[in-house]
Amino acid sequence: MNSTPVTVIGLGPMGAAMARVLLAGGHHVTVWNRTRSKADDLVAEGAVLAATPAEAIAASPLVVLSLTDYRAMYDILTPAAGSLREKVVVNLSSDSPQASREATEWFTGHGAQHVVGGVMVPPLLVGTDASYVFYSGPKAVFDRYEPMLRPIGRPEYRGEDPALAQLFYQAQLGIFLTTMAAHAHSSAILAAAGVAPTDYAPFAVEVVDLVRAIVPDTARHFEAGEHPGGLSSAAMMRESAAHVVAAGREAGLDNAVPEAVLAYYDKAIAAGYNTSDGSVLYEVIKKA
Ligand code: NDP
Repeated sequence: MNSTPVTVIGLGPMGAAMARVLLAGGHHVTVWNRTRSKADDLVAEGAVLAATPAEAIAASPLVVLSLTDYRAMYDILTPAAGSLREKVVVNLSSDSPQASREATEWFTGHGAQHVVGGVMVPPLLVGTDASYVFYSGPKAVFDRYEPMLRPIGRPEYRGEDPALAQLFYQAQLGIFLTTMAAHAHSSAILAAAGVAPTDYAPFAVEVVDLVRAIVPDTARHFEAGEHPGGLSSAAMMRESAAHVVAAGREAGLDNAVPEAVLAYYDKAIAAGYNTSDGSVLYEVIKKA
């Protein structure tokens, strides 16, 4: 399998990192990118730059896409769609779950097979032990190319539904992005009082570790639909959320994130969940 040719379309930071890992694995790597100069370093390292997307696709049975979104994919592949027949496209571009299902239909219509993926680490970690990648789509096709894809990151195949990889990817990003935003907000509260963000950072790590420790139990509450209070309650958590909003307001900050959290707790209290555990937010979030 190591000598199997592979094409990488899209040489942003992620695509370039993946092309590098595939080159290091001994594959014949063909690349294409809208901005051609981004291929220069890879060509120097042994990749072949195709003149057109159609030529890039024709060069390999496996085509890896690493594009900003699926719009970019259609922009590139629509004029080259005639070259897709019998190709396997592993699409590591981010978009919505429904976009993945529609793209699978599109690829099927052009005689290609579509495996959806989402890489869960930044470019510098691609190809390291920290890297993992969600995949979904036809299992037999995924299994055929899994040994080739493995060096990019630990493969996490989630099922045949093409949307599953995007769903897992977006779920992870939802936690990542809101946590990053909350970290920025908390750092700004303290910075307004003269505390350097680096002085606060060790405490931020402690609270992230606390969240990490309680995630499994919280997930059991979600699954059981039971949110027994006792040591903490939604009513108490609602007041805590209000105090974070007040702290942000007193510091003159943009409070969008803590206000959104407070709105969830207000909804829980309005629904009568005062004495439930804070995990009850799951129930109010499920109902728009
Ligand atoms: P970028 O947005 O930097 O670039 C991706 C590629 O998309 C570039 O090659 C760019 O071409 C191309 N592109 C965008 N629009 C068009 C278009 N209309 N026509 C042709 N080509 C287009 O993305 P990254 O490399 O950072 O990421 C790739 C994917 O991986 C994204 O879906 C991202 O969400 C995901 N991801 C990114 C991570 C990161 O930390 N960067 C981490 C994990 C996943 P050009 O060079 O010409 O602009």
